[in-house]
Amino acid sequence: MMAMKGDWPILAKVGLMERFFGRKTRSNAANAGGICHLCLGGQDGFPYHDFSAEARWRTTYLRHDPFKGVGPLACLPHHSPMFYRFDVFHCCHKGIMAELAGSALVVLMDLGLAGAGDVPTQLTALYNEMVTFCSRNRIPLHMTDLTRQLVNLMKDADYPCGAWFKGADTSAACRFLEFRYAQLEPQAYTQAIYEAICSANQFLRGLYGHGLWIRASDAQMIQASGLKFVSQYVTAAHHALVLEKTRFKLAPKLHALLHIIQYLRDELATGAQWVQSPIQWSTQQDEDFVGKISKLSLAVSSRTVHAQTMAKYATNFWEHWKDWKS
Ligand SMILES: [Zn+2]
Repeated sequence: MMAMKGDWPILAKVGLMERFFGRKTRSNAANAGGICHLCLGGQDGFPYHDFSAEARWRTTYLRHDPFKGVGPLACLPHHSPMFYRFDVFHCCHKGIMAELAGSALVVLMDLGLAGAGDVPTQLTALYNEMVTFCSRNRIPLHMTDLTRQLVNLMKDADYPCGAWFKGADTSAACRFLEFRYAQLEPQAYTQAIYEAICSANQFLRGLYGHGLWIRASDAQMIQASGLKFVSQYVTAAHHALVLEKTRFKLAPKLHALLHIIQYLRDELATGAQWVQSPIQWSTQQDEDFVGKISKLSLAVSSRTVHAQTMAKYATNFWEHWKDWKS
């Protein structure tokens, strides 16, 4: 086993991490535990959202043991903090880019650019526009509506975030938002949002458009668009703060993404002609697979859940195998 991937809570739990997102404090309190198992980001004096080349957390990368005990996988060879991988799917689709999409949708309403009516009416109008855009551009969209819950906006003071079920819908929403924001009159706030969206799309397109190995020149462009996304996202968050709006949350996953970008930069710094894509640690296929099994387990008796789920899986597998053979 070379590495473990999954969402952040499971990494923190299995790894028995002292430092993880749950240790986030409102400000850089002197006793802040730090949010990252790879560095001291989030501790006092080490702001985790600092994306500059001089960010202080960079000097602490892999220098401090993050474990509070001996976890169940600690006996494996090559066990180290890097064994527990941040992955693009959880950091981007289910993380910071869902924050971007949720906030960017809500900002359209803040600025009165989503039509008339109350919030649910405006969200429905935006959803209808998104459906039209996606169908015209043949982009799969799984969500069946857009509600306050789905953008995490139960009240205006909430930080919006795309809470739709399918991570792929974050990509669809961001592509729609790039189209939507391109039509606006440029002003500092919306321009930062637009550039964050464009860079996020470029970053994801770059990663998912390649296989396991990426040519150095392409990897260079991908890491640059990732860094530009972070920079413009933080700029948009700053504008929102000045306007006293709770938009573009500086969530810990922003920091996890910085490590993914840093991984690409470190690989490029070796002078290699080809670098391995961080997509190798992504979990979309596994998540889809587990989702299907989970669905089967809901349709069986709770007393014999294991045996019946396996039997149903075997039956489904055979059905597909038969089709494939013929
Ligand atoms: Zn870190």
